[in-house]
Amino acid sequence: MAGSNVRVAAEIKDLTRIERIGAHSHIRGLGLDDALEARKVSQGMVGQKEARKAAGVILTMIREGRIAGRGVLLAGQPGTGKTAIAMGMAKALGDATPFAMMAASEIFSLEMSKTEALTQAFRKAIGVRIKEETEVIEGEVVEIEIDRPATGSVAKTGKLTMKTTEMETIYDLGVKMVEALQKEKVQAGDVIAIDKASGKVTRLGRSFARSRDYDAMGPTTKFVQCPEGELQKRKEVVHVVTLHEIDVINSRTQGFLALFAGDTGEIRAEVREQIDAKVAEWREEGKADIVPGVLFIDEVHMLDIECFSFLNRALENELAPILVVATNRGITRIRGTAYRSPHGIPIDLLDRLLIISTSPYEEPELRTILDIRCEEEDVEMADDAKELLTKIGAETSLRYAIHLITAASLIATRRKAATVEVEDVSKAYQLFIDVRRSTQFLIEYQDQYMF
Ligand code: ATP
Repeated sequence: MAGSNVRVAAEIKDLTRIERIGAHSHIRGLGLDDALEARKVSQGMVGQKEARKAAGVILTMIREGRIAGRGVLLAGQPGTGKTAIAMGMAKALGDATPFAMMAASEIFSLEMSKTEALTQAFRKAIGVRIKEETEVIEGEVVEIEIDRPATGSVAKTGKLTMKTTEMETIYDLGVKMVEALQKEKVQAGDVIAIDKASGKVTRLGRSFARSRDYDAMGPTTKFVQCPEGELQKRKEVVHVVTLHEIDVINSRTQGFLALFAGDTGEIRAEVREQIDAKVAEWREEGKADIVPGVLFIDEVHMLDIECFSFLNRALENELAPILVVATNRGITRIRGTAYRSPHGIPIDLLDRLLIISTSPYEEPELRTILDIRCEEEDVEMADDAKELLTKIGAETSLRYAIHLITAASLIATRRKAATVEVEDVSKAYQLFIDVRRSTQFLIEYQDQYMF
């Protein structure tokens, strides 16, 4: 597979990460100290200390490669932070470890079979670390001039003066490079690397001492055109892409654009076999390693018995990622059977899972989570309004209270207030009813609804 494909896949992965911004964007890790104890409030995480610590132990096992063939079940009431903890694990593992996330209901699609959907999910959670050699121009930026066209159009050309080793060179820039330099906000004095093949620009830092030297050189400095080649270094770069990304890119019917659209369709078994063989070859030649990641399946009780048996088998595979599943169900029917089981999960699969339980929050924890969410959403809220919101959260649900932040903030904006007050929260509370009030309403008026 061409190196550029790997690069495209790496960039696409950045895009898929953006999708995760939202309800959990305030979570930046598990908030543990070096002894794996959970700090009271840290990295956006509040309370739920036992569960966070347990998740930290699992991470250590993942990093040490000691959890193969097993999984983790996060079990607890709705809104007790199961997904938040899974997100915290993803953040703590970092970008180099794949973390795939899905809701179990996503497997019921008309476009692909359940086993295909699960196979894709597994392969999204298995990374291939590929080492590649590439030519890189590395040096310090002396000056950048980017043409400033009339408003409305985008700059397409410019000049870049760069100092590499002892030489200075002026480059005429094309539109791609202009964009790359602007994206990285490159300025004079920055030390940058430009990948010759892809044109990707990386800012390596700033060189203050040297940029002062350049100031001292004054405007009369002569620039020397450096012979091609002298500026270039061969550098080993490492990309981590997932098996799924390699599958899609190499599948003739899909093409890599499918990764953007999320519309990858079914992938033929022969394609996967060829890729597995190729990856095995790379591993033998020392060009690649496998990075088992994490597959998180939320609402796992929505899977049916066929899926559970697939999971049981898939976990035995040598390349299996770590499976983390979550559910808020107690003893319930296993879909596709007449049997009931804890969490709606068959006993043989449960037996492979380490179980972490989460419990409901007390008011002070709710308050802190709401504080963090207000900050995350850039909402200024008065203390007494926050107090009311906390009470609402305790009576209804944390998720409902979090939703009211945005609604109340819009109401405050309408009356041109910069701060959300009690009246805005109570107005939002009246406008949007929570589950309990909605149920009450249905009970009162049930004879007016269709059956
Ligand atoms: P469900 O069973 O309904 O899927 P859940 O247990 O997965 O619920 P989350 O979605 O994780 O609950 O939590 C609801 C909201 O509260 C999210 O926005 C989440 O980020 C936030 N949250 C929950 N627990 C914590 C926590 N301990 N620290 C910070 N934020 C939290």
